[in-house]
Amino acid sequence: MNILILGSGGREHTFAWKIAQSEKVSKLFVAPGNAGTNKIATNVPIGVNDFEEIKTLVLKENIQLVVVGPEDPLVNGIHDFFLDDNELKNIAVIGPEKLAATLEGSKEFAKEFMMRHQIPTAQYKSFTSETVKDGFKFLEQLNPPYVLKADGLAAGKGVVILNDLDDAKNELKSMLVDKKFGSASATVVIEEFLDGIELSVFVLTDGDSYKVLPTAKDYKRIGEGDTGLNTGGMGAISPVPFANKAFMDKIEQRIVKPTVEGLKKDNMPYKGFIFIGLIKVGDDPKVIEYNVRMGDPETEVVLPRIQNDMVDLLKAVADQKLADIELQLDERTATTVMTVSGGYPGSYEKGKEISGIESIEDSLVFHAGTTLKEGKVVTNGGRVMAITSFGSDFKTALSKSYENVAKLSFEGMNYRKDLGFDL
Ligand code: ATP
Repeated sequence: MNILILGSGGREHTFAWKIAQSEKVSKLFVAPGNAGTNKIATNVPIGVNDFEEIKTLVLKENIQLVVVGPEDPLVNGIHDFFLDDNELKNIAVIGPEKLAATLEGSKEFAKEFMMRHQIPTAQYKSFTSETVKDGFKFLEQLNPPYVLKADGLAAGKGVVILNDLDDAKNELKSMLVDKKFGSASATVVIEEFLDGIELSVFVLTDGDSYKVLPTAKDYKRIGEGDTGLNTGGMGAISPVPFANKAFMDKIEQRIVKPTVEGLKKDNMPYKGFIFIGLIKVGDDPKVIEYNVRMGDPETEVVLPRIQNDMVDLLKAVADQKLADIELQLDERTATTVMTVSGGYPGSYEKGKEISGIESIEDSLVFHAGTTLKEGKVVTNGGRVMAITSFGSDFKTALSKSYENVAKLSFEGMNYRKDLGFDL
Protein backbone atom coordinates (compact mmCIF):
# COMPACT_ATOMS: atom_id res chain seq x y z
CA MET A 1 0.00 0.00 0.00
CA ASN A 2 1.22 3.52 -0.80
CA ILE A 3 0.83 5.98 2.05
CA LEU A 4 1.09 9.76 2.33
CA ILE A 5 1.75 11.63 5.59
CA LEU A 6 0.94 15.36 5.67
CA GLY A 7 3.14 17.59 7.81
CA SER A 8 6.74 18.43 8.53
CA GLY A 9 7.40 18.16 12.26
CA GLY A 10 8.66 15.67 14.80
CA ARG A 11 5.17 14.18 14.89
CA GLU A 12 5.28 13.39 11.18
CA HIS A 13 8.81 11.97 11.35
CA THR A 14 7.61 9.68 14.14
CA PHE A 15 4.62 8.56 12.07
CA ALA A 16 6.91 7.94 9.11
CA TRP A 17 9.35 5.94 11.28
CA LYS A 18 6.54 3.80 12.70
CA ILE A 19 4.72 3.28 9.39
CA ALA A 20 7.97 2.46 7.56
CA GLN A 21 8.39 -0.56 9.87
CA SER A 22 5.33 -2.20 8.38
CA GLU A 23 5.78 -4.73 5.61
CA LYS A 24 2.47 -3.59 4.21
CA VAL A 25 3.92 -0.31 2.95
CA SER A 26 5.17 -0.18 -0.61
CA LYS A 27 5.88 3.52 -1.01
CA LEU A 28 5.81 6.13 1.71
CA PHE A 29 5.53 9.87 0.98
CA VAL A 30 5.67 12.86 3.31
CA ALA A 31 4.51 16.33 2.26
CA PRO A 32 6.41 18.49 2.85
CA GLY A 33 8.49 16.51 5.39
CA ASN A 34 11.91 17.35 6.83
CA ALA A 35 15.50 16.06 6.71
CA GLY A 36 14.51 13.11 8.92
CA THR A 37 11.56 11.93 6.84
CA ASN A 38 13.73 12.34 3.75
CA LYS A 39 15.82 9.36 4.89
CA ILE A 40 12.95 6.91 5.22
CA ALA A 41 10.35 8.24 2.80
CA THR A 42 10.02 10.42 -0.27
CA ASN A 43 9.54 14.07 0.61
CA VAL A 44 7.27 16.01 -1.71
CA PRO A 45 7.36 19.83 -1.55
CA ILE A 46 3.62 20.40 -1.20
CA GLY A 47 1.97 22.40 1.58
CA VAL A 48 -0.53 20.66 3.86
CA ASN A 49 -3.32 23.01 2.75
CA ASP A 50 -2.68 22.69 -1.01
CA PHE A 51 -5.57 20.29 -1.53
CA GLU A 52 -5.44 20.35 -5.33
CA GLU A 53 -1.73 19.54 -5.38
CA ILE A 54 -2.28 16.81 -2.82
CA LYS A 55 -4.95 15.37 -5.10
CA THR A 56 -2.56 15.35 -8.06
CA LEU A 57 0.10 13.57 -5.97
CA VAL A 58 -2.36 11.01 -4.58
CA LEU A 59 -3.61 10.07 -8.05
CA LYS A 60 -0.17 10.06 -9.65
CA GLU A 61 1.41 7.87 -6.97
CA ASN A 62 -1.61 5.66 -6.41
CA ILE A 63 -1.76 6.55 -2.71
CA GLN A 64 -4.39 4.59 -0.77
CA LEU A 65 -4.08 6.06 2.70
CA VAL A 66 -3.44 9.62 3.87
CA VAL A 67 -2.43 10.41 7.45
CA VAL A 68 -3.06 14.06 8.35
CA GLY A 69 -0.55 15.31 10.95
CA PRO A 70 -1.54 18.89 11.86
CA GLU A 71 -4.98 20.36 12.60
CA ASP A 72 -5.05 23.03 9.90
CA PRO A 73 -5.97 20.87 6.89
CA LEU A 74 -8.53 19.01 9.02
CA VAL A 75 -10.22 22.21 10.17
CA ASN A 76 -10.08 23.34 6.52
CA GLY A 77 -11.93 20.18 5.51
CA ILE A 78 -9.37 17.94 3.80
CA HIS A 79 -11.32 14.80 4.69
CA ASP A 80 -14.49 16.26 3.14
CA PHE A 81 -12.47 17.33 0.09
CA PHE A 82 -11.57 13.66 -0.47
CA LEU A 83 -15.12 12.40 0.18
CA ASP A 84 -16.63 14.95 -2.20
CA ASP A 85 -14.29 14.09 -5.07
CA ASN A 86 -15.20 11.15 -7.29
CA GLU A 87 -11.58 10.22 -7.87
CA LEU A 88 -10.59 10.47 -4.20
CA LYS A 89 -13.63 9.30 -2.29
CA ASN A 90 -12.39 5.73 -1.79
CA ILE A 91 -9.00 6.78 -0.46
CA ALA A 92 -8.70 6.46 3.31
CA VAL A 93 -8.03 9.66 5.23
CA ILE A 94 -6.95 9.42 8.88
CA GLY A 95 -8.36 12.52 10.55
CA PRO A 96 -11.93 13.69 11.19
CA GLU A 97 -14.26 15.39 8.77
CA LYS A 98 -14.61 19.16 9.01
CA LEU A 99 -17.57 19.23 11.36
CA ALA A 100 -15.86 17.11 14.02
CA ALA A 101 -12.59 19.00 13.47
CA THR A 102 -14.47 22.03 14.80
CA LEU A 103 -13.89 20.49 18.24
CA GLU A 104 -10.42 21.96 17.87
CA GLY A 105 -11.31 24.82 15.53
CA SER A 106 -13.81 26.42 17.92
CA LYS A 107 -13.57 26.36 21.70
CA GLU A 108 -17.22 27.38 22.03
CA PHE A 109 -18.25 24.44 19.84
CA ALA A 110 -16.14 22.12 21.99
CA LYS A 111 -17.66 23.45 25.21
CA GLU A 112 -21.19 23.04 23.84
CA PHE A 113 -20.33 19.47 22.84
CA MET A 114 -19.08 18.71 26.35
CA MET A 115 -22.16 20.24 27.96
CA ARG A 116 -24.47 18.29 25.63
CA HIS A 117 -22.81 15.01 26.54
CA GLN A 118 -22.18 15.69 30.25
CA ILE A 119 -18.42 15.54 29.85
CA PRO A 120 -16.68 17.14 32.86
CA THR A 121 -15.07 20.49 32.04
CA ALA A 122 -14.74 24.00 33.50
CA GLN A 123 -17.92 26.09 33.77
CA TYR A 124 -17.97 28.80 31.12
CA LYS A 125 -19.83 31.47 29.18
CA SER A 126 -19.02 32.91 25.79
CA PHE A 127 -19.19 36.50 24.59
CA THR A 128 -18.96 38.58 21.40
CA SER A 129 -18.33 42.28 20.73
CA GLU A 130 -22.03 42.87 21.29
CA THR A 131 -21.94 41.40 24.77
CA VAL A 132 -18.65 42.79 26.14
CA LYS A 133 -20.47 44.40 29.06
CA ASP A 134 -22.05 41.07 30.02
CA GLY A 135 -18.53 39.63 29.84
CA PHE A 136 -17.34 42.24 32.36
CA LYS A 137 -20.22 41.30 34.68
CA PHE A 138 -19.41 37.61 34.34
CA LEU A 139 -15.76 38.29 35.19
CA GLU A 140 -16.88 40.18 38.30
CA GLN A 141 -18.74 37.10 39.49
CA LEU A 142 -15.70 34.82 39.12
CA ASN A 143 -12.75 34.41 41.41
CA PRO A 144 -9.25 34.99 40.00
CA PRO A 145 -7.34 33.75 38.08
CA TYR A 146 -9.46 34.59 35.03
CA VAL A 147 -9.23 32.33 31.98
CA LEU A 148 -10.01 33.95 28.61
CA LYS A 149 -9.92 31.92 25.43
CA ALA A 150 -10.15 33.14 21.85
CA ASP A 151 -12.70 30.84 20.22
CA GLY A 152 -10.74 30.04 17.04
CA LEU A 153 -7.26 28.78 16.20
CA ALA A 154 -4.59 31.21 17.42
CA ALA A 155 -1.42 29.11 17.13
CA GLY A 156 -1.46 28.19 20.82
CA LYS A 157 -1.49 31.87 21.88
CA GLY A 158 -5.22 32.45 22.25
CA VAL A 159 -5.52 31.50 25.92
CA VAL A 160 -4.78 34.23 28.44
CA ILE A 161 -4.84 33.68 32.20
CA LEU A 162 -4.80 36.79 34.40
CA ASN A 163 -4.92 37.45 38.14
CA ASP A 164 -6.22 41.00 38.09
CA LEU A 165 -9.86 41.78 37.31
CA ASP A 166 -9.09 45.04 35.46
CA ASP A 167 -6.42 43.30 33.37
CA ALA A 168 -8.95 40.59 32.54
CA LYS A 169 -11.53 43.18 31.45
CA ASN A 170 -8.96 44.97 29.29
CA GLU A 171 -7.90 41.69 27.71
CA LEU A 172 -11.52 40.79 26.98
CA LYS A 173 -12.02 44.14 25.30
CA SER A 174 -8.83 43.83 23.30
CA MET A 175 -9.82 40.36 22.09
CA LEU A 176 -13.43 41.20 21.21
CA VAL A 177 -13.36 44.85 20.21
CA ASP A 178 -9.76 45.39 19.04
CA LYS A 179 -9.70 41.93 17.44
CA LYS A 180 -6.38 41.00 19.03
CA PHE A 181 -6.48 37.57 17.37
CA GLY A 182 -8.45 38.67 14.31
CA SER A 183 -11.53 36.60 13.60
CA ALA A 184 -10.26 33.92 16.02
CA SER A 185 -11.26 36.20 18.90
CA ALA A 186 -14.64 37.35 17.50
CA THR A 187 -16.01 35.08 20.22
CA VAL A 188 -14.29 34.64 23.58
CA VAL A 189 -14.91 31.85 26.06
CA ILE A 190 -14.43 32.84 29.70
CA GLU A 191 -14.13 29.90 32.02
CA GLU A 192 -13.61 28.84 35.58
CA PHE A 193 -9.94 28.34 36.50
CA LEU A 194 -9.13 24.73 37.25
CA ASP A 195 -6.30 24.05 39.65
CA GLY A 196 -4.44 20.82 39.14
CA ILE A 197 -1.86 18.90 37.14
CA GLU A 198 -2.26 18.42 33.38
CA LEU A 199 -1.95 15.34 31.24
CA SER A 200 -3.03 14.24 27.79
CA VAL A 201 -4.90 11.17 26.73
CA PHE A 202 -4.91 9.99 23.15
CA VAL A 203 -7.70 7.99 21.58
CA LEU A 204 -7.82 6.31 18.21
CA THR A 205 -11.34 5.86 16.89
CA ASP A 206 -12.98 4.54 13.74
CA GLY A 207 -16.15 6.43 14.63
CA ASP A 208 -17.64 3.36 16.25
CA SER A 209 -15.17 1.73 18.61
CA TYR A 210 -11.99 3.16 20.06
CA LYS A 211 -8.63 2.38 21.64
CA VAL A 212 -7.18 4.42 24.47
CA LEU A 213 -3.55 4.99 23.53
CA PRO A 214 -0.80 5.74 26.07
CA THR A 215 -1.06 8.90 28.19
CA ALA A 216 1.58 11.62 28.00
CA LYS A 217 2.60 14.78 29.75
CA ASP A 218 4.20 17.56 27.77
CA TYR A 219 6.19 20.59 28.86
CA LYS A 220 5.02 23.71 27.06
CA ARG A 221 6.96 26.55 28.64
CA ILE A 222 10.40 27.53 27.38
CA GLY A 223 11.88 28.01 30.85
CA GLU A 224 12.80 25.60 33.59
CA GLY A 225 10.22 25.19 36.35
CA ASP A 226 7.49 25.88 33.75
CA THR A 227 8.34 29.55 33.38
CA GLY A 228 8.52 31.92 30.41
CA LEU A 229 6.66 31.82 27.14
CA ASN A 230 4.65 28.94 25.73
CA THR A 231 6.26 26.88 22.98
CA GLY A 232 4.97 24.09 20.77
CA GLY A 233 6.34 21.71 23.41
CA MET A 234 9.80 21.16 24.90
CA GLY A 235 9.51 17.47 25.69
CA ALA A 236 7.17 14.74 26.86
CA ILE A 237 6.89 11.69 29.09
CA SER A 238 4.71 8.61 28.59
CA PRO A 239 3.03 7.08 30.55
CA VAL A 240 2.13 9.72 33.12
CA PRO A 241 3.09 8.21 36.50
CA PHE A 242 0.08 9.56 38.42
CA ALA A 243 -2.44 8.24 35.87
CA ASN A 244 -3.06 4.97 37.71
CA LYS A 245 -5.71 2.41 36.83
CA ALA A 246 -8.46 3.98 38.97
CA PHE A 247 -7.86 7.40 37.40
CA MET A 248 -7.68 5.97 33.89
CA ASP A 249 -11.00 4.15 34.48
CA LYS A 250 -12.59 7.49 35.38
CA ILE A 251 -11.16 9.05 32.22
CA GLU A 252 -12.49 6.25 30.07
CA GLN A 253 -15.97 6.14 31.63
CA ARG A 254 -16.55 9.87 32.09
CA ILE A 255 -14.70 11.29 29.12
CA VAL A 256 -13.55 8.89 26.40
CA LYS A 257 -16.78 6.87 26.08
CA PRO A 258 -19.13 9.88 26.16
CA THR A 259 -16.89 11.64 23.63
CA VAL A 260 -16.99 8.80 21.10
CA GLU A 261 -20.71 8.22 21.77
CA GLY A 262 -21.33 11.97 21.51
CA LEU A 263 -19.66 12.12 18.12
CA LYS A 264 -21.96 9.33 16.95
CA LYS A 265 -25.10 10.89 18.41
CA ASP A 266 -24.26 14.25 16.87
CA ASN A 267 -23.60 12.62 13.51
CA MET A 268 -19.99 13.75 13.35
CA PRO A 269 -18.04 11.06 11.48
CA TYR A 270 -14.62 10.66 13.05
CA LYS A 271 -11.82 8.40 11.86
CA GLY A 272 -8.61 9.37 13.51
CA PHE A 273 -6.85 10.47 16.65
CA ILE A 274 -8.50 12.46 19.44
CA PHE A 275 -6.13 14.28 21.74
CA ILE A 276 -7.85 15.09 25.02
CA GLY A 277 -6.12 17.72 27.14
CA LEU A 278 -7.04 17.01 30.75
CA ILE A 279 -6.46 18.42 34.17
CA LYS A 280 -6.58 16.36 37.36
CA VAL A 281 -8.54 18.34 39.92
CA GLY A 282 -8.38 16.47 43.21
CA ASP A 283 -8.93 12.91 42.00
CA ASP A 284 -11.14 13.85 39.08
CA PRO A 285 -10.30 14.42 35.43
CA LYS A 286 -11.73 17.44 33.61
CA VAL A 287 -11.33 18.30 29.94
CA ILE A 288 -9.35 21.43 29.08
CA GLU A 289 -9.43 20.99 25.33
CA TYR A 290 -9.89 18.64 22.43
CA ASN A 291 -7.42 18.48 19.58
CA VAL A 292 -8.33 16.50 16.51
CA ARG A 293 -4.88 15.07 15.81
CA MET A 294 -1.91 13.73 17.71
CA GLY A 295 0.22 16.09 19.79
CA ASP A 296 3.76 17.11 19.06
CA PRO A 297 6.01 16.18 20.95
CA GLU A 298 3.63 13.64 22.56
CA THR A 299 3.64 11.54 19.39
CA GLU A 300 7.39 11.08 19.84
CA VAL A 301 6.71 9.15 23.08
CA VAL A 302 3.29 7.62 22.36
CA LEU A 303 3.90 5.92 18.99
CA PRO A 304 7.18 4.25 20.02
CA ARG A 305 5.24 2.53 22.83
CA ILE A 306 2.68 1.04 20.44
CA GLN A 307 3.82 -2.39 19.32
CA ASN A 308 1.11 -3.11 16.76
CA ASP A 309 1.81 -2.76 13.08
CA MET A 310 0.81 0.86 12.44
CA VAL A 311 -0.64 0.13 9.01
CA ASP A 312 -2.90 -2.56 10.50
CA LEU A 313 -4.15 -0.02 13.03
CA LEU A 314 -4.74 2.74 10.48
CA LYS A 315 -6.39 0.36 7.99
CA ALA A 316 -8.69 -0.86 10.77
CA VAL A 317 -9.67 2.75 11.46
CA ALA A 318 -10.40 3.35 7.78
CA ASP A 319 -12.42 0.11 7.46
CA GLN A 320 -14.19 0.58 10.80
CA LYS A 321 -12.69 -2.64 12.13
CA LEU A 322 -10.80 -1.26 15.08
CA ALA A 323 -12.80 -3.47 17.45
CA ASP A 324 -11.01 -6.51 15.96
CA ILE A 325 -7.59 -5.28 16.98
CA GLU A 326 -5.91 -5.78 20.31
CA LEU A 327 -3.63 -2.94 21.26
CA GLN A 328 -0.15 -4.01 22.35
CA LEU A 329 1.93 -1.58 24.34
CA ASP A 330 5.52 -1.41 25.50
CA GLU A 331 5.22 -1.10 29.27
CA ARG A 332 8.43 0.87 29.58
CA THR A 333 8.47 4.64 29.91
CA ALA A 334 9.40 6.77 26.93
CA THR A 335 10.70 10.31 27.22
CA THR A 336 11.58 12.86 24.60
CA VAL A 337 13.66 16.01 24.90
CA MET A 338 13.19 18.69 22.25
CA THR A 339 16.16 20.76 21.18
CA VAL A 340 15.23 24.23 19.97
CA SER A 341 16.83 27.16 18.15
CA GLY A 342 18.34 29.98 20.23
CA GLY A 343 15.73 32.72 20.71
CA TYR A 344 12.74 30.42 20.20
CA PRO A 345 9.79 30.91 20.84
CA GLY A 346 10.75 34.48 19.89
CA SER A 347 12.70 35.19 16.72
CA TYR A 348 15.56 32.87 15.80
CA GLU A 349 17.88 32.15 12.92
CA LYS A 350 17.66 29.14 10.63
CA GLY A 351 20.25 27.27 8.61
CA LYS A 352 22.59 26.27 11.45
CA GLU A 353 24.45 23.04 10.79
CA ILE A 354 23.57 20.24 13.19
CA SER A 355 26.39 17.93 14.22
CA GLY A 356 26.55 14.80 16.35
CA ILE A 357 23.43 13.04 15.04
CA GLU A 358 25.37 9.92 14.03
CA SER A 359 26.90 9.54 17.50
CA ILE A 360 23.52 9.10 19.18
CA GLU A 361 23.13 5.59 20.55
CA ASP A 362 20.23 3.79 22.18
CA SER A 363 17.82 6.64 21.52
CA LEU A 364 15.53 7.54 18.65
CA VAL A 365 16.16 10.75 16.75
CA PHE A 366 13.06 12.51 15.45
CA HIS A 367 13.66 15.55 13.27
CA ALA A 368 11.30 18.54 13.61
CA GLY A 369 12.53 21.80 12.06
CA THR A 370 15.37 20.47 9.92
CA THR A 371 16.21 20.51 6.24
CA LEU A 372 19.06 19.48 3.96
CA LYS A 373 21.41 22.11 2.60
CA GLU A 374 24.29 21.01 0.38
CA GLY A 375 23.99 17.51 1.83
CA LYS A 376 24.13 18.72 5.43
CA VAL A 377 21.34 18.68 8.01
CA VAL A 378 20.60 22.23 9.11
CA THR A 379 18.03 23.87 11.38
CA ASN A 380 14.85 25.05 9.70
CA GLY A 381 12.49 25.93 12.54
CA GLY A 382 12.08 26.75 16.21
CA ARG A 383 11.84 23.19 17.40
CA VAL A 384 14.67 21.28 15.78
CA MET A 385 15.06 17.69 16.91
CA ALA A 386 13.58 15.39 19.56
CA ILE A 387 15.55 12.63 21.26
CA THR A 388 13.36 9.79 22.51
CA SER A 389 14.56 7.11 24.96
CA PHE A 390 13.10 4.19 26.86
CA GLY A 391 13.64 3.29 30.49
CA SER A 392 12.08 1.35 33.36
CA ASP A 393 10.90 4.71 34.73
CA PHE A 394 10.91 8.29 33.50
CA LYS A 395 14.12 9.22 35.29
CA THR A 396 16.10 6.40 33.65
CA ALA A 397 14.64 7.19 30.25
CA LEU A 398 15.29 10.91 30.65
CA SER A 399 18.90 10.45 31.65
CA LYS A 400 19.45 8.53 28.41
CA SER A 401 17.73 11.27 26.40
CA TYR A 402 19.89 13.92 28.07
CA GLU A 403 23.08 11.91 27.56
CA ASN A 404 22.34 11.81 23.84
CA VAL A 405 21.14 15.41 23.57
CA ALA A 406 24.56 16.40 24.90
CA LYS A 407 26.13 14.81 21.79
CA LEU A 408 24.11 17.06 19.49
CA SER A 409 25.16 20.57 18.70
CA PHE A 410 24.18 23.54 16.60
CA GLU A 411 24.73 27.24 17.15
CA GLY A 412 22.30 28.55 19.76
CA MET A 413 20.91 25.10 20.69
CA ASN A 414 18.68 25.17 23.74
CA TYR A 415 16.62 22.57 25.62
CA ARG A 416 14.96 22.15 28.98
CA LYS A 417 17.03 20.25 31.50
CA ASP A 418 14.30 19.76 34.10
CA LEU A 419 11.64 17.64 32.40
CA GLY A 420 9.68 15.59 34.91
CA PHE A 421 10.44 18.10 37.71
CA ASP A 422 6.78 18.12 38.74
CA LEU A 423 6.23 14.35 38.82
P1 ATP B 1 -2.63 24.42 22.78
O1 ATP B 1 -1.46 25.33 22.53
O2 ATP B 1 -2.32 23.32 23.76
O3 ATP B 1 -3.35 23.97 21.57
P2 ATP B 1 -4.85 26.10 23.18
O4 ATP B 1 -4.45 27.46 22.74
O5 ATP B 1 -5.72 25.30 22.29
O6 ATP B 1 -3.59 25.31 23.62
P3 ATP B 1 -5.98 25.34 25.78
O7 ATP B 1 -5.30 24.04 25.72
O8 ATP B 1 -7.44 25.38 25.94
O9 ATP B 1 -5.58 26.30 24.59
O10 ATP B 1 -5.30 26.14 26.97
C1 ATP B 1 -3.91 26.35 27.02
C2 ATP B 1 -3.41 26.15 28.42
O11 ATP B 1 -4.04 27.06 29.31
C3 ATP B 1 -3.72 24.79 29.00
O12 ATP B 1 -2.77 23.84 28.62
C4 ATP B 1 -3.74 25.08 30.48
O13 ATP B 1 -2.42 25.09 31.00
C5 ATP B 1 -4.27 26.45 30.57
N1 ATP B 1 -5.74 26.41 30.81
C6 ATP B 1 -6.71 26.40 29.88
N2 ATP B 1 -7.93 26.36 30.45
C7 ATP B 1 -7.74 26.38 31.78
C8 ATP B 1 -8.60 26.37 32.93
N3 ATP B 1 -9.91 26.38 32.81
N4 ATP B 1 -8.03 26.37 34.14
C9 ATP B 1 -6.68 26.39 34.30
N5 ATP B 1 -5.82 26.42 33.27
C10 ATP B 1 -6.32 26.40 32.03
